[in-house]
Amino acid sequence: THFGFQNVAESLKESKVRDVFNSVAKNYDTMNDAMSFGIHRLWKDQFVQQLNPGKKSIFSEPMTILDLAGGTGDIAFRMLDHARTVNGDPETRVKVVDINEEMLREGMKRAHSLGYRTEGEDAPISFLVQNGETLEAIPDNSIDLLTIAFGIRNFTDKEKALATAYRVLKKGGVFACLEFSKVNNFVLDQIYQRYSFSVIPMMGQLIAGDRDSYQYLVESIVKFPSQKDFARMIQDAGFQLAGKGWQDLTFGVAAIHTGVKL
Ligand code: SAM
Repeated sequence: THFGFQNVAESLKESKVRDVFNSVAKNYDTMNDAMSFGIHRLWKDQFVQQLNPGKKSIFSEPMTILDLAGGTGDIAFRMLDHARTVNGDPETRVKVVDINEEMLREGMKRAHSLGYRTEGEDAPISFLVQNGETLEAIPDNSIDLLTIAFGIRNFTDKEKALATAYRVLKKGGVFACLEFSKVNNFVLDQIYQRYSFSVIPMMGQLIAGDRDSYQYLVESIVKFPSQKDFARMIQDAGFQLAGKGWQDLTFGVAAIHTGVKL
């Protein structure tokens, strides 16, 4: 089931999501910058800094991190960089898992251009095609930190994905999700809705020549549950929430949810 050699059962929604990300893979990073004015980079930086990956002392173990729906590796590279530069830990490893081979291929190119090895058991970063709802190739209780950034809203069965995250995490392991959420200010929300429904599909057309995929992305943000409802779903999957379970970023345009497997 390693990168390039696996068979994933498809539902209609899954194949649609795959088409969307197939068509956006090459322009994905440019589009992210254009749509969010570069703010997604700040959110991702904050997400990783807060999680503080890497071994913290000579007595602790390096971490096994799984970045689910990891796409072109934005979170994974930040994790490795943080573990090395902040915690002096070159051993912590990240598995980037995604249902879409094209996105992973872009990620792999980035890894090689940064000088990372991607093959072999001890590779600092590896890429695996898997459906995040099942993660068949990932054993139970094997992961220290499972992250998912801007991914879960595309999953057909979010409850199943959360149950699977719970299954693969070790006891004490952390689930952390960065996702678009609900704006917590009425006036800003009006502006944001107008921006996302008109400007984003138009940018998709201009930059990537693909209006429909970006229209789909906007709609998936609207349909995603509120911060509170999503926190409840995480709790229902068995996780212990830290405080209320989430933290808003940029007035709730995005939010970070975290839970611990006790
Ligand atoms: N995490 C990356 C980032 O923040 O830049 C990529 C986010 S991208 C918006 C969403 C990713 O979710 C895509 O790469 C897509 O292929 C992946 N995805 C969608 N459904 C999935 C599933 N069921 N299992 C695994 N990955 C999935």
